[in-house]
Amino acid sequence: MNKIEHLGIAVENLETSSRLFELLLGNAPYKQEDVESEGVSTLFFNIGESKVELLKATNEQSPISKFLAKKGPGFHHVAFAVSDIRSEMNRLRDAGFELLNDEPKPGADNKLICFLHPRSTGGLLVELCQDAPL
Ligand code: ZN
Repeated sequence: MNKIEHLGIAVENLETSSRLFELLLGNAPYKQEDVESEGVSTLFFNIGESKVELLKATNEQSPISKFLAKKGPGFHHVAFAVSDIRSEMNRLRDAGFELLNDEPKPGADNKLICFLHPRSTGGLLVELCQDAPL
């Protein structure tokens, strides 16, 4: 794995949280993007070589709706940048980690992504992401 690509933060309200993180980080978000397949609306901030991703649910079935109902707003997942997501997925599967999807899927910010189940990572939701070929 190459670096922490971003930290995902679950929020109730994208506008309020956008203002809060703009104040906190001292810079404005550079991108808003909806990922319909995941039921989320996202907002990205640059922070050094990494990013902060705010995630708001866009429907009741969204994983973010379930997360907010259970735990409330706050830290949701860490995303690691990988060069070859398929080989990392194979390596981690062989090492006993539980992958939430069998194939990489399209994520926000032009990435191919895969999540690892928190029950196999000591409670941490982990996302792998590789820059998607344009
Ligand atoms: Zn993410």
